[in-house]
Amino acid sequence: MWEDLRGHHRTLEQFRQAFRRGRSAHAYLFIGPEGIGKRTFALNLAQCLFCERTSNEELDACGECHACVQMRAGSHPDLLSVARPDSKRELPIELIVGAADRRGREGLCHELAMRPMSAERRIAIIDDAQTMNTASANALLKTLEEPPPGSMLILLTPSADAMLPTIRSRCQPVTFAPLPDDDLSALIISLGMTSDRDEARQLTTLAGGSLVTAQQLLKPELRSLRERLFTALDQAEIDPFATTSQVLATLEELGGDSATQRRHAGWIVRFCVEFFRTQLRESSVTDADDPLANAAEMDRLIAQMERCVDAELHLQQSMPLPLCLEGMFDELSRIRRGNVAV
Ligand SMILES: [Zn+2]
Repeated sequence: MWEDLRGHHRTLEQFRQAFRRGRSAHAYLFIGPEGIGKRTFALNLAQCLFCERTSNEELDACGECHACVQMRAGSHPDLLSVARPDSKRELPIELIVGAADRRGREGLCHELAMRPMSAERRIAIIDDAQTMNTASANALLKTLEEPPPGSMLILLTPSADAMLPTIRSRCQPVTFAPLPDDDLSALIISLGMTSDRDEARQLTTLAGGSLVTAQQLLKPELRSLRERLFTALDQAEIDPFATTSQVLATLEELGGDSATQRRHAGWIVRFCVEFFRTQLRESSVTDADDPLANAAEMDRLIAQMERCVDAELHLQQSMPLPLCLEGMFDELSRIRRGNVAV
């Protein structure tokens, strides 16, 4: 059943060794970027522990027994799972410990403590665990400190730093690396996201090892934003103001809530970095007949790429988007005009 797993075989091997030695943990913190397979890994792990025909030490599943069929259908009664709803910024505390008037009598922690219905244990997966507020995290703490016998909790987060230290210290951390390019490319094709190998490779280069990011990039609006940016950057002169308004207009078309827009904004600078990286690669293999001019051009390209990386940092530090973009395009234009020493 692990045959479809891509990129995390070493982690699987570590789990197998731990289970063989009887050293499984009650709580795990799966750490890694969105869309690289943490949730799939957690579900596979649960299926192995629920499978009626394999022992826990093997950490494998038959794929045919009642438990395996239920897991594949997403209906196993002993698998509990919560995640932040799309419309919410935080994971609601009600999902963890029940509504205010039923606190402690429903919710994930309560259900985890109940006797398993068909397996030998109950397993809970908390997706987007970094979006728990302090109250939710404190409510969960009690379960982490005194886990119900046999239970297992798996928390998923993009970063360990985003978790409260009290939660972090009570979970065994497992770090998941972004998917290697070959694995991600193969996955993009096998999931039917595209049948064009060149397109799959292009998506892979941009997606930074994340399947979710690759999926987002399939949006035609995002693609057209990329093309517009590339056209603008390909001109000898950049008009900072016009380019900024053009890009902002495309962002408007993409819509979404403020978090989504911020993510899209991140794409703008990443596309710019990609543009300069490609130019750099091309100029390092051509124009060898004029090495001096070529070296100067490469310096200019590197300087422009660095300005884009700075802009990405500014964005992360919550600088208003128009200000950030206009500043970036202005710098790029000055470098091209030779007004900035590089
Ligand atoms: Zn089975």
